[in-house]
Amino acid sequence: MRKKIDRDPSQKENAKSRKAPAPKPAPAKDPAPANRRNGKAASASEPRTAVPSARRGHSVRSAPAASAPVRIIPLGGVDGIGMNITAFEYGDDVIVVDCGISFPKEDMPGVDVVTPDFTYLQRNAQKLRGLILTHGHEDHIGAVPYLLKKVKCDVYGTRLTLGILDGKLNEHNIRTDDLYEVRAGEVVTLGAFDVEFIHVNHSMPDAVALCITTPCGRIIHTGDFKIDFTPIGTTPIDLGRFAELGKQGVRLLLCDSTNAERPGYTPSESTLTASFDRIFNDDQRRVVIATFSSNVHRVQQILEACARCGRKVALTGRSLQNVLRAAQELGYITIPEGLVIDLADCKHYPPEKLAIITTGSQGEPMSALYRMAFGAHPMVSLGPTDLVVLSASCIPGNEKLVTTIINELYKRNVSVITDRTDDVHVSGHACREELKLLHSLVHADCFVPLHGEYKHLVAHANLAKELGMKPKNVLLPEAGRIIELDRNGIHEAGTVEAGTVMIDSGGGDGVESAVLRDRTNLSESGVVFLTAGVDSEGELAFGPEIVTRGFVYVKESEELLRYLADMARKLLQKSLDRGLTDPTALGARLKDDMFNIIFQKTRRKPVIVTLITEVER
Ligand SMILES: [Zn+2]
Ligand SMILES: [Zn+2]
Repeated sequence: MRKKIDRDPSQKENAKSRKAPAPKPAPAKDPAPANRRNGKAASASEPRTAVPSARRGHSVRSAPAASAPVRIIPLGGVDGIGMNITAFEYGDDVIVVDCGISFPKEDMPGVDVVTPDFTYLQRNAQKLRGLILTHGHEDHIGAVPYLLKKVKCDVYGTRLTLGILDGKLNEHNIRTDDLYEVRAGEVVTLGAFDVEFIHVNHSMPDAVALCITTPCGRIIHTGDFKIDFTPIGTTPIDLGRFAELGKQGVRLLLCDSTNAERPGYTPSESTLTASFDRIFNDDQRRVVIATFSSNVHRVQQILEACARCGRKVALTGRSLQNVLRAAQELGYITIPEGLVIDLADCKHYPPEKLAIITTGSQGEPMSALYRMAFGAHPMVSLGPTDLVVLSASCIPGNEKLVTTIINELYKRNVSVITDRTDDVHVSGHACREELKLLHSLVHADCFVPLHGEYKHLVAHANLAKELGMKPKNVLLPEAGRIIELDRNGIHEAGTVEAGTVMIDSGGGDGVESAVLRDRTNLSESGVVFLTAGVDSEGELAFGPEIVTRGFVYVKESEELLRYLADMARKLLQKSLDRGLTDPTALGARLKDDMFNIIFQKTRRKPVIVTLITEVER
């Protein structure tokens, strides 16, 4: 169940709400339970006295009176794309911004999802005042279900973000009535923190940046953003608000670094309109177009272009249908009447009157596009009368999968258009000139880059210095490293436990690294079984026998296997001679010894399984 923060229902467009006749700042509708301290929302257009800074007896201007520092603790998202999560701590209050997953790397076989390590948040569960979500991408909300399984926490997010989160929580069977819907322009007070939501542009609707007013001054956290003056289906980023806050004084800027290496500006979403019109108008083939299911504005564009060009549209892919259902219910997408048809009805239309929107732009092996490319889709088979458009960028790490799909499509004589060959995709993240604009407007005293590979963070830190920020006021973050903000600036101040937890399809408590090591070794070097029997007198009754799978080609390695069996017998005998009789201990010792011998002999690390049994004589 969703709780709403009281507001004037006549306000529709979130970015305008601050300028609309100011609604009375109102507390949350439900009677606040004891742990929900100060939980209330106000409009930012109200005099800032609506924010309880005066009540808490501290100034929020650029010269903070607070003597204790605010602690900013990135728990992920600062060394690779994904798993964004940052905690803010002051006294007895902790708030968390975003809680995302990342996807497994190649050295994590069998792992489905990677989440942050929540140890620090579990230890501070009593202090947790709220989790604030900037937008609904997986790298920002994907790990929320895993966090809520461990701690109880109110969650604040905009409508679409919570709409997508709802679906996730259902999948995990989590029932919570602690979700609070907010809008850009509003302020929520969470313990020592006032959190204001600021409208930004991104590759998903309803994204917000945050201005977190703390006893040590303002901190701006941009979330993911770009600057788009002609966005589709929404209004431009609220640059005016960033400028106002900049004038009032911002102590620290935390900013998206994804495109910090890319010069210039990210093109506007609406620059794609002409490309789509050209493709849907001029091409006589059926168009199959793949995009991120969360990119609701992109899907809206494609639908409108199809309507203009007289094509019917079919949708395929579960995540696409789920997100679109949520987006349509919540009013983020309008689908022209009669435009969308069932996939099964495609056969009634000629190719030039049809388009199919699908998932699979990253080459995901279970996706609809993947199955089409391999001729395994139950309803769609592709051939020379089809044009496939990949309206997405290839996320680093997915290149091989995407290439596989393109190869398979070419083998079927299907034409392919990608963002490298045509203007069919724009990024959702700010490039260097946009970053410079935001830095200049906010004009913060200190800067910490977030959201990127380490090289992106370095590029962003250098950009800040080029804009005149003193090097001592710029810090490169590390997961778990505490950054303290006080009246003098920012500095590092120790660490908290942080890292990653790997979840496999069992979905349980995370895969231990030992399990992962075994999986890697199994796939690379196979497995060696050693079995032996020991009698009650401590004599070797049989074995050790050696059986291997995936380790060596047995027929050509008889000599090696004889040598290993021989060594195993000698080592086991040595342990027995020393009086060791417990089968488990004997097995463990044998495993360690054989690991070293096998590695010395073969330079390989197979998984070794020993089974020592006690035999009656
Ligand atoms: Zn995002
Ligand atoms: Zn992101």
